Amino acid sequence: MRRTKLIATLGPASAGPEILDELIASGLNVARLNTSHAEKDTLARQLAGVREAADRAGRHVGVMLDLGGPKLRLGEVASGTVLEPEAAFELRAEPGPGDASGASVSYAGLAADLTPGDRVMIDDGRIELRVTGTAPGLVQTLVRAAGPLSSRKGVNVPGVRLGLSGTTDRDMSCLAWALEAGVDMVAQSFVRSAEDVERLREAMGERAVPIIAKIEKHEAMEDLDGIVEAADAVMVARGDLGVELALEQVPAIQRRIVAACRAAGKPVVVATQMLESMTTARRPTRAEASDVANAIFDNVDAVMLSGETAVGAHPAHTLMTMDRIVRAAEEVAVEHAWKPRPGASNDIAAAVSRAVCELADSLDIAAIVTATQSGATARAVAAHRPQVPVLAAAASEAVARRLTLVWGVRPWVVKPYATIDEMVDSAGAAAKASGLARSGELVAVTGGVAINVSGSTDLIQVHRV
Ligand code: PGA
Ligand code: MN
Repeated sequence: MRRTKLIATLGPASAGPEILDELIASGLNVARLNTSHAEKDTLARQLAGVREAADRAGRHVGVMLDLGGPKLRLGEVASGTVLEPEAAFELRAEPGPGDASGASVSYAGLAADLTPGDRVMIDDGRIELRVTGTAPGLVQTLVRAAGPLSSRKGVNVPGVRLGLSGTTDRDMSCLAWALEAGVDMVAQSFVRSAEDVERLREAMGERAVPIIAKIEKHEAMEDLDGIVEAADAVMVARGDLGVELALEQVPAIQRRIVAACRAAGKPVVVATQMLESMTTARRPTRAEASDVANAIFDNVDAVMLSGETAVGAHPAHTLMTMDRIVRAAEEVAVEHAWKPRPGASNDIAAAVSRAVCELADSLDIAAIVTATQSGATARAVAAHRPQVPVLAAAASEAVARRLTLVWGVRPWVVKPYATIDEMVDSAGAAAKASGLARSGELVAVTGGVAINVSGSTDLIQVHRV
């Protein structure tokens, strides 16, 4: 069983039942719906498509709604526009057509936030401008890195604190739809602080689903521990990160974020350009294969594809290639992964989660089965990266789907049970039905004496299937 989870972004290249079936057959664990590039009717079609394809395959597939957040974008630009080196270029608050003399930007407050000398990066940093002056609603710049310019390209201002709210009206309307429609998790773009995450959670109210905080702004690195604490999971969003901060800092920042998440026992995703060349090519570069494998060696929970599956030429083949690279890396990595994380003392559930991994290490155990109400026990066990698979015997489909993101956890839905004996029997039956244990093999079952109470894990039973 592959332990690291695979996330693929859906888009025009991955629309329709056949391709979704292929993606799931190729190992898809979580489908990412991107609100930056799709309207609600498209998102709804994607969500329904994933649910139907997962049903056909008899598999749990999570759906992650990625809220675009306050991304700055250029307005319309005349086709064929090319910026020349050292030419003057204006960024205007007023919407209107753009050309080589200037273009509008989606954020009216930009001029007030910038000072001469600041850099403005457009289109993933392909175009670089230097601010020479500002006036109300107008930023004057000189072109430092020149090239062709087209409509609606992303704009980043490295090192500048923008007076923007963490979520847009569009995010809020997508969120309301998504919670109603039943997505399994929400990714939050351009998180700057723990407060941004807390505000989103508040906005979700009763229907709250797990939040994946995307680290892609320089401010986020200053509150990394707070964000890791506040969020349910974290994504190293290397695309925007590589323009918001210096490109050469991205690898070190990736290590820091992964280490912070591993220390806190929070799931962590590495994203963007992992197999970028496969957007067109049939085979990845060796550097890309190494990038994926190195994420596995760092014990991340999940790796993600973006444009490769959203607009690429062969989405399923790319996902299958990623699956092969991950499996090969895990053959080396999983053996060395097991290391009980030091945990907070006097937390019974945490101590039991750790103890069951140690038990699985000293006994010949086929699988750890966590009878889990909210998914928390399965996550806590997986955070120790045990050698054996973790079967999460979940109380509902919704909880099972939330666990699709978590390293080493195979989600499984079990019927309600009323006693500890029934719980252990049901766990054993699930281990057998899932194929993780055969008759006569041992499984280590964790659960709570207070049956069906979330957060009450306090027992381990070694059970012969
Ligand atoms: P995006 O986030 O694809 O939504 O921009 C990921 C990234 O920036 O790396
Ligand atoms: Mn981004």
